[in-house]
Amino acid sequence: MTGTRLEEPLGNLKGIGKNRVELLRSLGIETVGDLLFYFPFRYDDFRFRSLREMRREEPLSIRGIVASEPMLRYYTKKKSRLAVIVETEEMPVTAVWFNQPYMKERLQPGKRLFLFGKYDPLKQQIVVSETSFNEEKKTNRNGLQPVYSVSGSVSVKWLRGIIEESLRLYGEEIEEILPDELVTRYRLMDRREAVRTLHFPPDETALALARRRMVYEELFLFQLKLQAYKRINKAIPDGTVHRFPMEKIEEFIRNLPFPLTNAQRRVIDEILSDMRSPYGMNRLLQGDVGSGKTVVAAVALYAAVLAGYQAAFMVPTEILAEQHYRTLKELLEPQEVTIALLSGNISAGRRRDLLGEVALGWIDILVGTHALIQEDVSFHSLGLVITDEQHRFGVRQRKILREKGKRPDILFMTATPIPRTLAITAFGDMEISTLDEMPAGRKPVTTEWTVPERWDRVCALLRQEMEKGRQAYVISPLIEESEKMDLANATDLYMKLVKTFPQFRVGLMHGRLPSKEKDDVMSRFVKGEIDLLVSTTVVEVGVNVPNATVMVIVDADRFGLAQLHQLRGRVGRGGEKSYCILIADAKSETARERMNVMRETHDGFEIARRDLELRGPGDFFGTKQSGLPDFRLADLTSSRDFKILEIAREDAARLLETDSFWTDPAWKKLRHYLKKEASLEEKILD
Ligand code: ADP
Ligand code: MG
Repeated sequence: MTGTRLEEPLGNLKGIGKNRVELLRSLGIETVGDLLFYFPFRYDDFRFRSLREMRREEPLSIRGIVASEPMLRYYTKKKSRLAVIVETEEMPVTAVWFNQPYMKERLQPGKRLFLFGKYDPLKQQIVVSETSFNEEKKTNRNGLQPVYSVSGSVSVKWLRGIIEESLRLYGEEIEEILPDELVTRYRLMDRREAVRTLHFPPDETALALARRRMVYEELFLFQLKLQAYKRINKAIPDGTVHRFPMEKIEEFIRNLPFPLTNAQRRVIDEILSDMRSPYGMNRLLQGDVGSGKTVVAAVALYAAVLAGYQAAFMVPTEILAEQHYRTLKELLEPQEVTIALLSGNISAGRRRDLLGEVALGWIDILVGTHALIQEDVSFHSLGLVITDEQHRFGVRQRKILREKGKRPDILFMTATPIPRTLAITAFGDMEISTLDEMPAGRKPVTTEWTVPERWDRVCALLRQEMEKGRQAYVISPLIEESEKMDLANATDLYMKLVKTFPQFRVGLMHGRLPSKEKDDVMSRFVKGEIDLLVSTTVVEVGVNVPNATVMVIVDADRFGLAQLHQLRGRVGRGGEKSYCILIADAKSETARERMNVMRETHDGFEIARRDLELRGPGDFFGTKQSGLPDFRLADLTSSRDFKILEIAREDAARLLETDSFWTDPAWKKLRHYLKKEASLEEKILD
């Protein structure tokens, strides 16, 4: 943000008392600068437009005259609908107020009014969100109105007001942060003007230019941070040096029940060479479901222990923690490695003892969830940290971890295959290893695509498999961004299946369950106490139930290919023939093509590549699992912003390659930014 006055606390602004300061803090706004950079998430268009140009659900302002008696209907005591015909310059429109019965008194025929709301051209109807009888007042603020995301008693109107005020008082403090060269090359809007425009845009063109500028800035700084991090990591040998006898590792590998694939061998060599070196390892291991990441992890863990260090293995859920704990125990205990599970379910006393042993260095490998990085866990000599499904561990957690040990080597594992172009862009701070080969002898999961009318046949397959003693998943449809609706859907489906299969044990799993209950349902499924599990997509990535042979996905066309592939990966894990049934209407060409990709392809990387082709980067960046920070403005699911990200990546790389970047006063502001943001304090000399 630069400009020291922008770092002043909000209390200095008029009209912001203690309470407001607290409320704003909950929105992440602490300083004047935070406030100025708290941008609207949308704009309501208060300009008058022709009704004939309107599309469904578009916000609209109209002015007109009440042309009928108002009609008020109550559904329940509190729910009502009030409707009246409003004559406008173009045509009569039905105006509707929900749950505002008191408006009735104010709507006498002949009265002039000004309305704002969402318009439906088919019904010629506007659902009113703002009513005014004083046209003068409304037309004054005719234009694009910023709408901010707010909570509690902070109102958009109030926020608008204090932002306007602070722009007036502090606007001049906003300084350019980008190098002139880039501002000129891309004809970027001036920074101060861009901030002002984002809050109070004079028109759409200016808004687009302001947005473009700030998106570029945001993504450029993001890339600069990632890449600076990587470069410095590679330049300063302050990592953990693991010295381990390679014969022991080779012997361990020889004694595995299977030969490693070439890909496993290659990535193991990459990882071990990082671990030996004095530079910190920051590596992403990506490998499709079933490609054998666990054994790779086991080798790395073993190497750390042989070198005299401790290691931590973090996973997103308790279930996975237990699963990995068991596997690692089986693999490593014969090598006289001590492994412990830090579970959320143990007693306080046991936990205290365990943590004591960890601190003394008696435990070699500690497996667990996020709990592993909580304040009270301290290691004697932490040399290696592995996290499975890295996308759940943000930058902040990585930082906590690094601060815990003496800069342990870090390995992130993910089963979400990411096409190379995306990977280097999103994970520019990491080296990437890829398991692009499956162990021999895997049977592909038979994948079928069917329409909802064939539901009976799907049930027949479920019955057939459950009668054989197998288990099944049914994934309920996903409704955009609405957990509530997802839940309603899952519950309906669950009830339906309970009725269809009275003789089997049907379970329900969804995101709203408290995590303890989630674990409970999941572990009953793992133990075979549930035959059929109805679930929203919360079925954990990586859950291993070899006895499950059917995966049914309802409304499969609503899911991204990568996600479908992940879900399909839950079956086909035992020796039995397995099925994945995609239920979808798939009316559009793309939807049909996507269903076909799933039928024909079992390679996660190929699927990710096809998805990128078919849908753009949305599928990958659209999920919360991408591991990317929440950007203020940039939306990487849009191809436009994604292109900006790629350009920003090249620009950042070029800048960092310039020697003068590290010394020239011209770049001082950016260096200052890096120092602060990337916590590279001790490394960047000013
Ligand atoms: P993921 O990459 O999905 O985590 P896992 O590590 O769970 O995969 O491995 C899946 C299964 O494949 C495990 O049962 C594991 O023992 C087995 N496996 C791993 N590597 C090989 C190999 N090289 N040959 C045969 N089976 C293997
Ligand atoms: Mg795994």
